[in-house]
Amino acid sequence: MIDNIKKRIDELIKILKKANEEYYLDDNPSLSDQEYDRYMQELISLEDRYPNLQREDSPTINVGTKVQNKFNKVTHKIPMLSLGNVFNEDEIRLFDERIRKEVNPEYVCELKIDGLAISLTYEKGVLVRGATRGDGTTGEDITKNIQTIKSIPLVLNKEIDIEVRGEVYLSKASLEKINAEREQNGEPLFQNCRNAAAGSVRNLDPNITKKRDLDCLIYHLPNPLDYGIKTHKEALDFMKELGFTTNYQVNKLVKNVDEVMEYINEWTVKRPTLPYDIDGIVIKVNDINMQNTLGYTAKVPKWATAYKFPAEEVVTRLIDIIFTVGRTGKITPNAILEPVRVAGSTIKKATLHNEDNVVFKDIRIGDYVVIRKAGDVIPEVVRSLPERRDGTEKPFVMIANCPICHERIVRKEIEADYYCPNDLCPARKIENIIHYSSRDAMNIDGMGESVVEDLYNEGFVTKITDIYNINNYQDELINLEGYGQKKIENLKKAIENSKQNSLEKLLFGLGIRNVGAKTAKILAQQYKNIDNLMKATLEDLTSIRDIGEIIAKSIKDYFANEDNLNTINKLKELGINMEYIGTTTEEREEFIGKTFVLTGTLVNITRDEASQIIESLGGKVSSSVSSKTSCVIVGDNPGSKYDKAIELNIPIWQEEEFMDKIK
Ligand code: NAD
Repeated sequence: MIDNIKKRIDELIKILKKANEEYYLDDNPSLSDQEYDRYMQELISLEDRYPNLQREDSPTINVGTKVQNKFNKVTHKIPMLSLGNVFNEDEIRLFDERIRKEVNPEYVCELKIDGLAISLTYEKGVLVRGATRGDGTTGEDITKNIQTIKSIPLVLNKEIDIEVRGEVYLSKASLEKINAEREQNGEPLFQNCRNAAAGSVRNLDPNITKKRDLDCLIYHLPNPLDYGIKTHKEALDFMKELGFTTNYQVNKLVKNVDEVMEYINEWTVKRPTLPYDIDGIVIKVNDINMQNTLGYTAKVPKWATAYKFPAEEVVTRLIDIIFTVGRTGKITPNAILEPVRVAGSTIKKATLHNEDNVVFKDIRIGDYVVIRKAGDVIPEVVRSLPERRDGTEKPFVMIANCPICHERIVRKEIEADYYCPNDLCPARKIENIIHYSSRDAMNIDGMGESVVEDLYNEGFVTKITDIYNINNYQDELINLEGYGQKKIENLKKAIENSKQNSLEKLLFGLGIRNVGAKTAKILAQQYKNIDNLMKATLEDLTSIRDIGEIIAKSIKDYFANEDNLNTINKLKELGINMEYIGTTTEEREEFIGKTFVLTGTLVNITRDEASQIIESLGGKVSSSVSSKTSCVIVGDNPGSKYDKAIELNIPIWQEEEFMDKIK
């Protein structure tokens, strides 16, 4: 066991060291950043569990990589460190908790510019040296190249000796321009702004650097106390006064972790509008004395961290291709993947759409592939990476028969998709379950098409009555891609709530031929419960306005079928309401379609409860205040959301007022 762990640690270190060289020295990585981060997280977690196995040369404790002899070497008097990473809100709050065990900080939030860290040294206000970070202690002397970057002052506003640090980067527009030129010249294109910036600033020919139109933002003063500066914010202002370009329009001093989250949410939305790439948000303790109390590890400051945006595109390995049958009988090839986190969730399966798509993109089993997932969209395979093939990959073969009922599948001439032509194919059962769960029917929130397909394909739910046995399959469900504890809890709640629906929703959900939502309502109002409806004769039914013979016959046929009667009896046993409740709507005028924001500590109710109630009354809850916010609900010690609501003239309810309205 220990031998295996040690072997894996050695393997990971080898992979990460190679990646570091490709990234920091060649500016041409073959791994994606997400793959690198994944290997790094695996190594961190192994070293945490087996501290005795940690190697001295581990990339988890060392910055960057040793520099080559391409440039002269520069020793950093104060080491240039990296930053710790956090990947979600829980980890940000943990970071804050750890800090608050020792100090009570304000934070400065900054954009994490995706470029290359540099150190600039000035003597008597004149630029004398520019250096890369290297391994944190020894960097490369790139002074000549640095001198070509317009936003780096050659002379400061004051005759001062100072070292500052920042990021050299390339704008998105410049990357496009450079790549267009390179394409014309038949040169390889830069993969992204970061690699282009690093490659340009570490070029041996400063004339090339000059042509690349690089930019620089300064964000760090290594020895602020020497200048009588007590906070990071003051240091940023000081460096700006000296003539450096800082990101002063967007850097923000915030009071607490809630405001850090607001900043992150704001920039997650605004990120695409920026002229340059960012890959996260940096969170720094503002007070320098507090920073010093918190201190450093060999690799990172303990007083700062970088929140990394979830990637929308990641690389992983395609292990297999399986076929699923949709509710219309449509056959879809799906990629089974080595699990990977993308856009905040773990993905194990992604759609390949259809045969033409797989053939056109030349996707093979065993390939490394780029997976994309944006927002709520189903994850898809964007492309394969043929350059990473080792010859063991297997070509894709389209199936000839339905994987469920084995009927020969058919492809209509002008369509890209194959269909199973068998009306009795079990896949059609999926359609019934989806219909039963849909909004106008039993309204089981979270039980959409893909969830039903998953539950069906896993064998958990093959008929509507199985939905209610979620307690029997929840332990297995949690192991499925995209099924976290929270999602399952919400699903359980929605399933439980559906038991109380008024009769018309059930009648519509049962999928009785020709009985739409409107007819279901008429029947429920007329017969009040399902037993009365089941006893109704053809004449009874046709005597009702709007119910003709065809509908009446469909209803009689439905209740004459033994399978259907079994289903109804089973649903009764499971506690599903079979009575007409009436038109009581839970939703309330003051909440319907409105967006609420909560701030401060609520005394009578938890935030979660308040959010659930707002949603059940027809409203939405958002985490940040904007002109689209309808109302801000304010508890004790409200944060900046309260000030923003006043500034934007948004209605405010105190907690008591809110409690009154939801009574
Ligand atoms: P990092 O990029 O996670 O964070 C530290 C760096 O952030 C600093 O050195 C600085 O350059 C930068 N930064 C940008 N804006 C900043 C700001 N406002 N304040 C402070 N710093 C700011 O750490 P790292 O050690 O430079 O690099 C590790 C990361 O680089 C990995 O997580 C990965 O994403 C990438 N990487 C990728 C490969 C690969 O093969 N693809 C290899 C090595 C590293």
